[in-house]
Amino acid sequence: MLLDVRDLRVEFHTRDGVAHAVNGVTCGVDAGETLAVLGESGSGKSVTAQAVMGILDTPPGRITGGEVLFRGRDLLKLGEGERRRVRGAELAMIFQDALSSLNPVLTVGDQLGEMFTVHRGMSRRDARAKAVELMDRVRIPAARRRVRDYPHQFSGGMRQRIMIAMAMALEPALIIADEPTTALDVTVQAQVMDLLAELRREYRMGLVLITHDLGVVADVADKIAVMYAGRIVESAPVRDLYRAPAHPYTRGLLDSIPRLDRKGRELYAVRGLPPSLLDIPSGCSFHPRCPLARDVCRTDVPPLYEVGRGRESACHFWRECLRG
Ligand code: SF4
Repeated sequence: MLLDVRDLRVEFHTRDGVAHAVNGVTCGVDAGETLAVLGESGSGKSVTAQAVMGILDTPPGRITGGEVLFRGRDLLKLGEGERRRVRGAELAMIFQDALSSLNPVLTVGDQLGEMFTVHRGMSRRDARAKAVELMDRVRIPAARRRVRDYPHQFSGGMRQRIMIAMAMALEPALIIADEPTTALDVTVQAQVMDLLAELRREYRMGLVLITHDLGVVADVADKIAVMYAGRIVESAPVRDLYRAPAHPYTRGLLDSIPRLDRKGRELYAVRGLPPSLLDIPSGCSFHPRCPLARDVCRTDVPPLYEVGRGRESACHFWRECLRG
């Protein structure tokens, strides 16, 4: 497996107490495969990504357990220099907000070119040519001219393409994209997703897509891990999960996607709010919001049950949920 995360645990020490942000996450992705990690804000998905990338703010964050095996090596055991080298050349990340991730006072050509001068020792002239090639590859029109433009001269969708180009520059084995389309409108979202899927196929990269929107990943993901209160509560191949979710939280998320065949019917919403990570409910952390909750759910933490081929659910009543 390209990336194999095992029992990862992260906590944050705050003035109000210890926030248990990631509580034993196990997941993985192979070369050429896309894993979508889905959850509401505060579910721990971005913190998991930051821990994998080695960009967690420490303190206040602290990795308290687990392994992050990338090509068989545990990234958590590498020194900072080696970690930085892996991060530049083999692992890349795309952030949600391209405008604040790009340097406003440098042209996009300089920023893209820097990847090649710093990491590949290329001359400025060759690096500029590579920057144009990359901008062409992510379909930025008139790349030869626009390579001299600054980030603010591009639309949101084009800026996100530049971020993708930067992530792709060194042809990493794995890209982690944290909500890459959240700030974009719906048609541009689809174009950016299609581009990511196409590049993943072409370069046989692993792709981890972090999102709060089940609708966005349906066509591009191979498998999905659903996070809640710092745990993966369901993981499954994408088709199985959409056809018959095995966890009430996943079912709630699916039911809250607007659908044309349900016109005129009120849109479902998962009741209540996600819990504070400073005070995670006892037993199953989803019990205060769960329509299937019973007494045992308030006291006993559900283990991850194997519910099918490549499928797991952290619900005592997964059979009932599967039946719908
Ligand atoms: Fe709901 Fe209980 Fe299943 Fe948790 S274990 S998801 S509370 S039915």
